[in-house]
Amino acid sequence: MIEKRDFYIDGAWTAPSAANDREVIDPSTEEACAVISLGSAADTDAAVAAAGRAFESWSRTTRDERLDLIRRVLEEYGKREEDMARAISSEMGAPIDLARLQQVPAGAGHIKNFIRAYGEFEHVRPLGPHAPNDRIAMEPIGVCAMITPWNWPMNQVTLKVIPAIATGNTCVLKPSEIAPLSSLVFAEIMDAAGVPAGVFNLVNGDGAGVGSMLSAHPGVDMVSFTGSTRAGIAISKAAADTLKRVSLELGGKGANVIFADADEKAVKRGVLHCMNNTGQSCNAPTRMLVERPIYEDAVETAKAAAEKVRVGPTDQEGRHMGPVVSKVQFDKIQDLIGKGIQEGARLVAGGPGRPEGTNRGYYVRPTVFADVTNDMTIAREEIFGPVLSIIPFEGEDEAVRIANDTPYGLTNYVQSSDGAKLKRMARALRSGMVEMNGQSRGAGAPFGGMKASGNGREGGVWGLDEFLEVKSVSGWPEAA
Ligand code: NAD
Repeated sequence: MIEKRDFYIDGAWTAPSAANDREVIDPSTEEACAVISLGSAADTDAAVAAAGRAFESWSRTTRDERLDLIRRVLEEYGKREEDMARAISSEMGAPIDLARLQQVPAGAGHIKNFIRAYGEFEHVRPLGPHAPNDRIAMEPIGVCAMITPWNWPMNQVTLKVIPAIATGNTCVLKPSEIAPLSSLVFAEIMDAAGVPAGVFNLVNGDGAGVGSMLSAHPGVDMVSFTGSTRAGIAISKAAADTLKRVSLELGGKGANVIFADADEKAVKRGVLHCMNNTGQSCNAPTRMLVERPIYEDAVETAKAAAEKVRVGPTDQEGRHMGPVVSKVQFDKIQDLIGKGIQEGARLVAGGPGRPEGTNRGYYVRPTVFADVTNDMTIAREEIFGPVLSIIPFEGEDEAVRIANDTPYGLTNYVQSSDGAKLKRMARALRSGMVEMNGQSRGAGAPFGGMKASGNGREGGVWGLDEFLEVKSVSGWPEAA
């Protein structure tokens, strides 16, 4: 069994101040694959203090010095791709090829995009020609705490750590206690890249422990959080007394609006997107809204597509679906599938229990419900598993009303061949992102939500601004 009890504090691997072991469970075997430590207040204080000391000098380094470090991080990340893929696969259950082809490259992609975006970034900008002696200076915030989830671990960690340190902040990362192994590899990468002591620190812990301590800590200037809406609210409350900035990337319940004039692959594409990463994505299109004239055909297509999704072990190569992350998630998904049946939705694929032939591991059947109404529990709650709800609608107005009738507002999707309708829908949907006709958003496009999906924006220029204070300066000497 892998033993990874130390934290990365002030440039050194450091033993926890008090023993507090926690096992990391491999969801494909239900057995422990590693042991880590959960940190204490003393470990949290040490990491925050190290980040505070390092801020003085790190915030005064030049953009080029910081960019050099990020380039070295990218180089070291490239050397550790296979270790990273294996860590992610065993901690959260991604099949090894999904880890290699999606999870690990997501991190590398963000690092590359930030190198490009920050290379063109101006910290000092003019206010406008009407005020020639004014400048807007974008200044680092200070010590940033980062609290991340288990579902896309390196995606989340790189979206926070890289822009924060690129723009002159220092940080303390607390990865998910369920999936801490990839972040420990990431800390080794930061160390190998030569990150100065205290600029990047990692303390493992759970939400009630290190997570809450960081949120309330007077030495922390900002918390950047990705995870559930429940924890986002708790963090906001804990952070209130110290008035720190809180950036939140929370859950979602995305609608995928498929009009009768959509392309013929739209339904299948929607099913596969929903099931990707075993349905464990905040931006998964989990409510498929289908226009009446094509509704019954769409249900048949969705059923066929879901029945073709293969479920298999994480260490087996190929494009199959792995287990969900934990027993807690497995039980929650089973409960919600039961509620779908009880509340009268029509089960057309999958259903309760494990897939045939599986008796170990948190494997769930790819499940599709039709005739779902938007007030049913499966249409309202984030299931975070491979469960799709199909809801019929008539006309654009009803589609918008159903899509927006949710506490969440992360990503919505639209499928249609009518350009004018696409533009109207893009503006009418209340979400931070709208993706249309299967086209993914470009590199550096901001990721984030509205309403209960949070207030943060990650990636590209917006993801850099997130970690900066806006300083307004007058009397700037023109010739300087
Ligand atoms: P979670 O909220 O249970 O945990 C996320 C992180 O927060 C973990 O590190 C955990 O230890 C910590 N935490 C939990 N309670 C806390 C508290 N009271 N104070 C401080 N920290 C606390 O979420 P999860 O189960 O790890 O991840 C799944 C959730 O994340 C889903 O709701 C999903 O939609 C969301 N998510 C959102 C995005 C996004 O960008 N919007 C991306 C990925 C995942």
